[in-house]
Amino acid sequence: MKIMVAIKRVVDYAVKIRVKPDKSGVETSNVKMSMNPFCEIALEEALRIKESGRASEVVAVSVGPTQCVDTLRTGLAMGADRAIHVEHTGTLYPLSIAKILKALVDAEKPGLVILGKQAIDDDCNQTGQMIAGLLKWPQGTFASKVVLDEENKVATVEREVDGGLETLCLDLPAVITTDLRLNQPRYATLPNIMKAKSKPIKKLTPQDLNVEVKSDLEVVQVMEPPKRKAGVVLSSVDELIDKLKNEAHVI
Ligand code: AMP
Repeated sequence: MKIMVAIKRVVDYAVKIRVKPDKSGVETSNVKMSMNPFCEIALEEALRIKESGRASEVVAVSVGPTQCVDTLRTGLAMGADRAIHVEHTGTLYPLSIAKILKALVDAEKPGLVILGKQAIDDDCNQTGQMIAGLLKWPQGTFASKVVLDEENKVATVEREVDGGLETLCLDLPAVITTDLRLNQPRYATLPNIMKAKSKPIKKLTPQDLNVEVKSDLEVVQVMEPPKRKAGVVLSSVDELIDKLKNEAHVI
């Protein structure tokens, strides 16, 4: 079975986000970019499934500008067998990404597609659900544990929900999106970084896949959150209660 993993290139989680002066979005030029952390978890899970002998190939795919190749190389260095880069420079919204990923699934025919539960740049949390809908495949979102039964073509997915853990059995092929506690992604070792340089990255465009990238959303404005006021140190519980009652009005 082949596993396809969708990898997004995002502003590194450790970078302090700056809003563009024209408020049209977040500054991405001259900013460190990395693989979306939930996509690292998705790739790690695919690699573990392959290493346990239940998958034969892991294909990493990314949609976006030329620099996505760097992110895909990181994925190849972690252990993906090959990669596909669908090059597109304009703004991309989840429905367009899902349509592109669906076209790749139609061409590659994986038995499992794993995505991050959300991208930390736009926090959309939509692409996995949309691709499952377009493919009419079952979906297990926010997975905190995945057990694959290759013989019976079933994936058991434990998901973190408000009230605790929910366990789902999905008929394969299926779509899974990963939550934080699913695994701890590996670091790429130096020999694997070197090996990744010779692994293949196929280049495509949305046009090659017959997908029209059109925007069905308009970002009206992006703003910084209001600055937080400095905290104060109080000398007694009575003072705290007084402030909660008379200043914060929460009790
Ligand atoms: P989102 O719905 O934007 O929060 O993204 C959820 C997941 O969809 C990400 O963690 C990725 O696995 C996948 N995804 C989103 N955008 C892209 C992209 N441009 N290229 C590849 N995968 C993507």
